[in-house]
Amino acid sequence: MEWNDAILDLKNVGEQRAKKLNRLGIQTIGDLLEHYPRDYKDRSRMVTIADLSETEENTFVARVRGEGQSVRRGRLVMTKVQAYDETGEITLVWYNQPYMKTAFQPNESYLFTGKMQKKYGRMEIASPEYEIVGKSFAGGRIVPVYPLSEGLSQKILRGFLAEALHCVQGTLPEILPLWLRKKYHLAERNFAIQNIHFPVTETAFYDARRRLVFEELFLLQTALSCLRQEWLQQGAGILMQYQDTLQKIQESFPFPLTNAQKKVLQEIQNDMTSGKMMNRLVQGDVGSGKTAVAMAAAYWVIQNGYQVVMMAPTEVLAEQHAQSFQKMFAPLGIRVVSLFGSMKAKEKRAALAEIADGSAKMIVGTHAVIQTGVTYQKLGLVITDEQHRFGVRQRGMLAEKGENPHVLVMTATPIPRTLALILYGDLDISIIDELPPGRQKIDTLAVNSTYRPRIYTFLEKQAQSGRQSYVICPMIEENEKLEVENVLDYTEKLQKTIPNCRIACVHGKMKAVQKQEIMETFAAGETDILISTTVIEVGINVPNATVMLVENAERFGLAQLHQLRGRVGRGDEKSYCILVSDAKTKIAQQRMQTMTKTTDGFVISEMDLQLRGPGEFFGTKQHGLPELKIANLYRDMQLLKEAQDAASTLLAKDPTLQEPEHAGLRAQISTWFEGKNLEL
Ligand code: ADP
Ligand code: MG
Repeated sequence: MEWNDAILDLKNVGEQRAKKLNRLGIQTIGDLLEHYPRDYKDRSRMVTIADLSETEENTFVARVRGEGQSVRRGRLVMTKVQAYDETGEITLVWYNQPYMKTAFQPNESYLFTGKMQKKYGRMEIASPEYEIVGKSFAGGRIVPVYPLSEGLSQKILRGFLAEALHCVQGTLPEILPLWLRKKYHLAERNFAIQNIHFPVTETAFYDARRRLVFEELFLLQTALSCLRQEWLQQGAGILMQYQDTLQKIQESFPFPLTNAQKKVLQEIQNDMTSGKMMNRLVQGDVGSGKTAVAMAAAYWVIQNGYQVVMMAPTEVLAEQHAQSFQKMFAPLGIRVVSLFGSMKAKEKRAALAEIADGSAKMIVGTHAVIQTGVTYQKLGLVITDEQHRFGVRQRGMLAEKGENPHVLVMTATPIPRTLALILYGDLDISIIDELPPGRQKIDTLAVNSTYRPRIYTFLEKQAQSGRQSYVICPMIEENEKLEVENVLDYTEKLQKTIPNCRIACVHGKMKAVQKQEIMETFAAGETDILISTTVIEVGINVPNATVMLVENAERFGLAQLHQLRGRVGRGDEKSYCILVSDAKTKIAQQRMQTMTKTTDGFVISEMDLQLRGPGEFFGTKQHGLPELKIANLYRDMQLLKEAQDAASTLLAKDPTLQEPEHAGLRAQISTWFEGKNLEL
């Protein structure tokens, strides 16, 4: 059996179970083998019945006496089975599972795991896990605990993994070269895969995990370094000239640029006058003034005689950028044109013509701006907002058109600096580490739902004094499975409660034009309260909005809450962020606390990293990096450093991975590049 074989080829996996496995992202044997346990239980210590403990889980082998007995107590059917070993006897109890009566072969030995209770001096275990001795994967050893989906149990998954491991035993090719494994003390691949699932000993587990985490991070680092090399080899970048144009654009802003903005602009100019191609990430907290930096850079490039494109992830955002650029650039005589997928054919034709003949200097839009059919007269700079990474594929599309522009990526997701430097191995990074002066601190309150009447009075007062509010609900419509607020019902409810306020809602299921209209009305101050899902999360800039009310705040991650809060506090008025939640879980409480304590995006992202589990790190997927299956960027920071070191050693030895010893690595990385995982 091979890594890429379909999961259906595995014994006992039929259409039904294959579907359930698919839901866990498992399509192939390899996917299954990479479905790593989320936890382990140490059941390697076996006890006898006489030694069963009441305080912890026990694993023991016992024989079953015979058929069990069921008794009904009201609505409850209790099924009891007797089991014994040479030291004693115990009663096994199941509730409402009458079939357990005949689930065992009399006098056969089984492995049981569960917590013992003494009742009237007799020993009892409720719903123990059980398995036939000899086939055991549930006990007598360290056992894996997997992430599950509906209809799949630990037992079933353990069985599948045991089977798959049995089939591939000893046949998985090693992709890490021997010198590397020796230098970094890494276990062999077959050993690692076996022992990450069913560790023979605790040490074996640590060795396995070290190897697999290292491999994942090492591949990532190597891939990013290859990308960077590729980028550097793209040849000469367009050479811009220093001109005294920055002064002019700075005068056009209604405010002086902050020192941080100036510093970043300088870095951008240095790049574009170096003769090399720029590939720079500008990281700045919400409200730090990235758009202003983008404008200044764009202006300068346009003065150099080139066109500039600004790409945003949604039409709403793109439209907003188009308007801000228009406001800034029109008085300077610069033609701004927007281009969206949803434009009417006639409008689109007109826009395309202006882009092609060069009369459009500043082009703003969604992905449509780099698609086939768009021809530029002379493209000098591509700016992407909240896109995190300008992909190889996207670059390829431009290259096909004969364009070779500089690239500037803007992101508001603050990543701890050390991590950012590692994750963005292929980008140069600028950080706007200073907010424009005069910003008022946003007051953040975490309350429970009993505060709603007071909150609504507050929203009404804000509206009366001419200010606006956002309300965020986690859902669009009612959902039977989840008792959380939804936009549609909430809008109705709120309108009834405060009928004097002008209330509107916007959500992801609306057509782009409709969303656009609602956002514009809100931006124009003609709506008091805007209720929405997180569609307004990124980038929206309405300085008159002073309240951000988040319902079911427990359902949002810290990074997301921070983004949402960043939508207010953009003007001169005092702003508020109100987080409503009735959740009592520790993680929810910690998040709320963090939010009320700090407004520093970097502190929040550190906290986010700590609170989230492995693989869930907010950055990776969002930043176009592959989802990490085993490494945890926070916990595994040390290994990440080693992996980075290893990647540079490797590439110094063999920059294009041509040596036979590195063929496996090259193959692995190129599958990533093919876009399966890595949106590069
Ligand atoms: P970001 O995109 O980083 O979230 P924006 O560029 O949208 O931030 O800027 C947020 C707000 O701050 C905007 O209203 C913008 O006009 C204003 N702003 C930007 N730079 C400055 C500055 N140097 N001084 C004062 N206000 C600024
Ligand atoms: Mg922005």
